Amino acid sequence: MKKELTGRIFDIQGFSVHDGPGIRTTVFFKGCPLRCAWCHSPESQEFPPELNWMEMKCIGTKACGKCINACPKGAISPGGTRTNPLDDTSVQLVKVDRSLCDSCFECTKVCSPKALYICGTEYTGDELMDRIRKDKPFYDRSGGGVTFSGGECLWQAEFLLEILIRCRREGIHTAVDTTGYAKWELIEPIIPYTDLFLYDIKSTDSDLHRKLTGVPNELILENAKKIAAAGGKFQIRIPVIPLFNDSVKSIAASGAFIKELGDAVEVVQLLPYHNLGTVKWERLQRNAPVLEAAPPSDELMQARKKQLEEMGLHVIIH
Ligand code: SF4
Ligand code: SF4
Repeated sequence: MKKELTGRIFDIQGFSVHDGPGIRTTVFFKGCPLRCAWCHSPESQEFPPELNWMEMKCIGTKACGKCINACPKGAISPGGTRTNPLDDTSVQLVKVDRSLCDSCFECTKVCSPKALYICGTEYTGDELMDRIRKDKPFYDRSGGGVTFSGGECLWQAEFLLEILIRCRREGIHTAVDTTGYAKWELIEPIIPYTDLFLYDIKSTDSDLHRKLTGVPNELILENAKKIAAAGGKFQIRIPVIPLFNDSVKSIAASGAFIKELGDAVEVVQLLPYHNLGTVKWERLQRNAPVLEAAPPSDELMQARKKQLEEMGLHVIIH
């Protein structure tokens, strides 16, 4: 018997208002081919499920400590401390030695407060559609729908296509938030079932793109043109990162490329870089990449918006 297709999802967020039109449910697929220097979702990068530990939920070794005995690899031991702000008592926390951990996830089974949890859950098509359908009244009232994001949702292209087809059958608006870094054979089949592509143009300079994301941009730019030619619609996103891609010249080059896509582009979204995502790196106990950039000023964002508008583009700032 053929095994039922499943998708590996690391989060589902309702009431999203920045991932396409109206109120949306955003489904985050696990696994990504890029390693953006500003990544705020490190849990999206690797495809295998991963152990996360949320310090604020851990009640400590004195009150609990169950994970230490549950770990067959001896990877968990007493770690740092946290001061309880209500009475100034100290809570002895745990630490995970990632070099010993083999991701058996036994520790998550005994952690009642869910401080230790698995990031990456398998969903069948039915399970995911049941979750998406729950928010349908909000989509209908707001002109919203569902957005498939990641990670890179095309990493699991077969499952994505199945869900897109089912959404179309049920009259649910679909947006696919993709890096565009995928074989055309994976992108082409989803175009008829995707109402909107959320598509990053991070830089038209391939060397800079590789420096910022780990991959060159030729495939991404080529796919954007092919999607436009095939009738796809875009919300183009430009993350604005000072000292890297925020210059007049860089934005002009991105704008010129976007203009080439013609009527396929419904809106250009400028996303100001921010550096607030380090807590998610801490949960994975991995070091965040260092990007020597400060968030752009409002003045700079408005100036780049105006620049693109003068090129005839409809522009919003996130
Ligand atoms: S089982 Fe969970 S709450 Fe208990 S000590 Fe371990 S991480 Fe903390
Ligand atoms: S996932 Fe398994 S090996 Fe890793 S810390 Fe938890 S119990 Fe130990």
